[in-house]
Amino acid sequence: MTNDPANLSSTTHTDVLIVGGGMAGGLLSLLLADAGFSVRVLDAGPAPVRPSGESAPRVSTLSEASHWLLRHAGVWDRLDPERVQAYASMQVWDRDGTGEVRFSAADAGADCLGWLLENDHLTAALFEAAGERDTLAWHGDTPVDDLTRDGDGWRVTAGDRTFSADLLVGADGARSRVRDAAGIPAPARDSGHRALVATIETDRPHGGCARQAFMDSGPLALLPLFGHGGHRGDGHRCSIVWSAWPQRSDELMALDDDAFGAALSQATGEVLGAARVVSRRAVFPIEERHASRYQGRALALVGDAAHVIHPLAGQGINLGLLDAAVLAEELGRARAAGLPVAHATILARYERRRRADNLLMQNAMRGFKLLFERPEPAVRWLRNTGLGLVNRLAPARHAFMHRALGRAGDLPRNARP
Ligand SMILES: Cc1cc2nc3c(=O)[nH]c(=O)nc-3n(C[C@H](O)[C@H](O)[C@H](O)COP(=O)(O)OP(=O)(O)OC[C@H]3O[C@@H](n4cnc5c(N)ncnc54)[C@H](O)[C@@H]3O)c2cc1C
Repeated sequence: MTNDPANLSSTTHTDVLIVGGGMAGGLLSLLLADAGFSVRVLDAGPAPVRPSGESAPRVSTLSEASHWLLRHAGVWDRLDPERVQAYASMQVWDRDGTGEVRFSAADAGADCLGWLLENDHLTAALFEAAGERDTLAWHGDTPVDDLTRDGDGWRVTAGDRTFSADLLVGADGARSRVRDAAGIPAPARDSGHRALVATIETDRPHGGCARQAFMDSGPLALLPLFGHGGHRGDGHRCSIVWSAWPQRSDELMALDDDAFGAALSQATGEVLGAARVVSRRAVFPIEERHASRYQGRALALVGDAAHVIHPLAGQGINLGLLDAAVLAEELGRARAAGLPVAHATILARYERRRRADNLLMQNAMRGFKLLFERPEPAVRWLRNTGLGLVNRLAPARHAFMHRALGRAGDLPRNARP
């Protein structure tokens, strides 16, 4: 399906062409259209549709900064509040030790620490919002095959259609064709983990708390899901992301539902009582990448096309949405100053503003993973003592929360109230 407003359907050229209508590309398209650019989105998949009934398998935690970006873009109010779960506390503990940290929204002077929602829910809301912008066209079922430089801009072929633009943006995910066409290396690095995702039901309600247990085989996140009518009371369902070594992940996938539930209950220390799996289980490889550059001639990369990080802190798309907002802010400034949309200085500024923060988060995730998989008693002592200290020291707890809320770094204006 295509959203193709009348004033763009007669031309194949736009100021900006975005390959990829995921969460990062979708938000970018709205922000650029609102800044006065003509924009076209090409996405390989069908037009996103809002999920209904049981929760969709892929969910994301969104930070306060992401919430503000989506609110200012007019997307947040389109979300169905019944399918968005706020969480006001977090509990992180060492399953093989004694260390534990608890964070609460009250400590951060916030109403909540984040929200959990289905990826399809958000992309559908972005797509619907795009339909109301008359300088924005969005083509679903349009996989891009070929990308070539064309004068100062780019020419892009998708099947029998050809489009051109002054600026090409790669928002096409981890295996970005745009990145490849620009010759920007982003070698995959095996994290040593696979992520098993599923929906579970627990005896006790989650109480709006996001939980993460660290084990030497990898972290297990219990993310509070919105309730549905018809289930055994609201608040008993969580989405899990169980990151584990491949062998452990294979073992978990081979278990029947009862045995998997028992393994889950054991791994969580029955923090919410007994747990049962109520969905299919799916496994994703966890590869990390970081593009050597986020920009090239008349080209920029955002979201997973620029960086893929371990999902253990649920930050991937939060970083991607910030990329989109910073790029839109810089392009808007260029326009106000009368500069061409693909001006090299502007694209370099975008990269400077985002790269250090994204690298910091990627390295922090690697550090966490390493710290928790080391069995040596000294490392175990260090991490338990460290968690205990963070829990007791308000400034350390605040520093963690500040970053988790997305309040750190060089934020774009619209990532704040
Ligand atoms: C198990 C797991 C759990 C996660 N949990 C969280 C979380 O809680 N919080 C969080 O912030 N992040 C989380 N992440 C990371 C998050 O899912 C990603 O960072 C995010 O989906 C990336 O969004 P994106 O828009 O950059 O790319 P994608 O979601 O990959 O979207 C890319 C789009 O490009 C399109 N495309 C690709 N190739 C082409 C082509 N040739 N032509 C046209 N279109 C194309 C695709 O159809 C797709 O729509 C998690 C990741 C995993 C694996």
